[in-house]
Amino acid sequence: MMNFLSLIEAKREGKTLARGEIQGFIREFTAGKIPDYQMAAMLMAIYFRGLDTAETTALTLAMRDSGDVLKFPKDKRPLVDKHSTGGIGDKVSLPLAPLLACLGFRVPMISGRGLGITGGTLDKLDSIPGFQTLLPAEKIVAQVQKIGCVICGQTDRMAPADKKIYALRDASGTVPSIPLITASILSKKLAESLDALVLDVKFGCGAFMQTKAEARKLARAMVALGNECGVNTRALLTDMNTPLGRAAGNWLEVKESVTVLDCRTGVPPVSNLKTKNMATGRMPVLRRDNLSALVLDCAAHLLVQTRKSKSLAAARKQAGECLNSGQPRKKWDEMLVAQGADLAAFNKKLAQDSTAPVVVELKAETAGYISKCDARLIGEVIRDLGGGRLTKESAINYDVGIDQIAKPGEAVRRNSVLARIHAAGQSQARSACARLKSAFQFSERRPALAIRTTDLVTA
Ligand code: URA
Repeated sequence: MMNFLSLIEAKREGKTLARGEIQGFIREFTAGKIPDYQMAAMLMAIYFRGLDTAETTALTLAMRDSGDVLKFPKDKRPLVDKHSTGGIGDKVSLPLAPLLACLGFRVPMISGRGLGITGGTLDKLDSIPGFQTLLPAEKIVAQVQKIGCVICGQTDRMAPADKKIYALRDASGTVPSIPLITASILSKKLAESLDALVLDVKFGCGAFMQTKAEARKLARAMVALGNECGVNTRALLTDMNTPLGRAAGNWLEVKESVTVLDCRTGVPPVSNLKTKNMATGRMPVLRRDNLSALVLDCAAHLLVQTRKSKSLAAARKQAGECLNSGQPRKKWDEMLVAQGADLAAFNKKLAQDSTAPVVVELKAETAGYISKCDARLIGEVIRDLGGGRLTKESAINYDVGIDQIAKPGEAVRRNSVLARIHAAGQSQARSACARLKSAFQFSERRPALAIRTTDLVTA
């Protein structure tokens, strides 16, 4: 039995832990030989004192090796994945997995659940009738080999140390620590045996990392470690001050993902750019919508990382043509069926305008331009409508959420729809509507919006 107390004291005093010491305590904690209160103390010591690169590498690898690593047969299709640090309306994984499969990749996408205001891919998928997210390792490998993609949860045998440690971090205020986030995310991704990984590191009011500088620091740590562990890793730094896309909430996000795969994202063709949309009273957006653009960007980077494409411009074109071909939409259905979904029930649900009992519109009180649409507040309203969790045990209402979200830079008239609220009842809808008003700010002139550029962090 190791003397874990002396390791906690050493870290508390800012000392460096040896690789063997880190491997030892992760092994003993996973085996239930170290009590939660001592591990929580170690996590707090790490939170304040940090870990250097060698310690972070040792922790990540020890967490990966606490369980099974997926083993795939040799195949010319590279194994790739994308991971986002989480945000509001971030549904990129859903259309991306089938798109990547159609581009000739294998995608073992192991995803997580949301907590608090950031949504989780598994919760979104749970809103699809019959869809199974808990698959054994053999089934994950077989499905990836057969159809090219799977989106499912971490099995009990994949990085179990992370599962236990994440729950403790959540309950001990130690989530926002760069070495702990790095080890947590990469231990799971390394257990997928990937060739290449693209990370979407979010910054802004709706993200873990509030500033771009913090996001860059986290991205650099993850990119360096991913590459050191043999996975070609790069990171995009993307803005999470405004929700991604126009819908947030579990089922509404699945629905919006299908519009991406159907290439119907609400962005009008170029010839219509000067015409107001009479249904919403809004001027159309002048640039490609940010959701589809990010999906294509992630695919394009993976094409370049795996040398399937020579330049980012050529890769974007290839990914765009693939999306437009309609094949990824068919692949999505194939993935749903492979994971037990009832396709007829899914399509019936898709055809409904709303599956929540009450839908109300939030309308603009004056004409002007939207200058702000606060992702954090929108996330909080959705969580309180029942769409997210306050604790790990909270039950989720999959049908609630917000859609038709107006975005910064768009012109609105008096009474234009700023957003629709899907709620379980009238009183929840009314209170959400009152809170949501302050998520939007207006200006008389079209605001000079910074062009949305994506910063890239590579090795
Ligand atoms: N996602 C994870 O899996 N772990 C973290 O620590 C943060 C986000």
